[in-house]
Amino acid sequence: MVELTDKVAIVTGGSRGIGSAISSELARNGVKVVVNYQSNSESAEKVVHAIKESGGQAIAVKADVSKSDDVLNLINETINQFGKIDILVNNAGITKDRTFRKLSQDDWNQVINVNLNSVYNTISSALPHLMESEAGRIINISSIIGQTGGFGQTNYSAAKAGLIGYTKSLALELARKRVTVNAVCPGFIETEMVQEMPDKVREQIIASVPVQRLGQAIEVARSVLFLCKDGEYITGQQLNINGGLYM
Ligand code: NAP
Repeated sequence: MVELTDKVAIVTGGSRGIGSAISSELARNGVKVVVNYQSNSESAEKVVHAIKESGGQAIAVKADVSKSDDVLNLINETINQFGKIDILVNNAGITKDRTFRKLSQDDWNQVINVNLNSVYNTISSALPHLMESEAGRIINISSIIGQTGGFGQTNYSAAKAGLIGYTKSLALELARKRVTVNAVCPGFIETEMVQEMPDKVREQIIASVPVQRLGQAIEVARSVLFLCKDGEYITGQQLNINGGLYM
């Protein structure tokens, strides 16, 4: 088991939804957390404030993960404040759902840039630091949609499936460097991303989930904590947090 006290984590998109739960759960276990966000500074500061109130350490850093200069600044800020990086959680993500015939080039590019191209930016800048860690961890938040496909989600499923392939290849390359690389694949989790769906679609989803409910962000956060703490011999895997929806 890895002792997490004083480890340093970057959580991209750590200000809302699943990312906010991951930030809080890691901080609760002694990790110093960099809460990244793109535009909503109020949400990010709220997460940081709550962590500090509970005796943890955290900072908020604004950066658009699809922009390499922003990401370089995110990494530099982390090093300036906390001196190292042990854990990188690539969580930031967006959807632009449309059937392919209605999908614009811009809808395609934005989703691929934020969900997939961003991990080139984060990992290429953070990797030298992660390789200095005794127990480096890269956790890519993919999705059940990258495994099953989703109606109106060609852009999103391509990005999330891409993350799974990327996870396996990078895991092979970094296995000897004591850096594990895993994907966490949530099913349908109760965050703003899912709350935006029409009620009828949500009801259909719930009915189709074997455990008959949506997942909670904390349930995904606990799987990330598990990989950080107990995941020394787990690499290149997809950890499914989906209530049995895809097996
Ligand atoms: P969410 O509630 O919409 O939160 C998205 C987070 O990502 C926010 O903190 C947002 O920051 C940040 N973000 C968006 N674009 C960014 C960018 N370009 N650069 C940096 N940060 C950016 O989303 P969520 O539902 O928690 O989803 C989190 C991750 O889990 C995503 O990768 C998503 O694809 C994946 N996932 C979600 C579900 C689900 O059911 N919710 C299921 C499977 C997978 P701002 O507020 O500042 O924009």
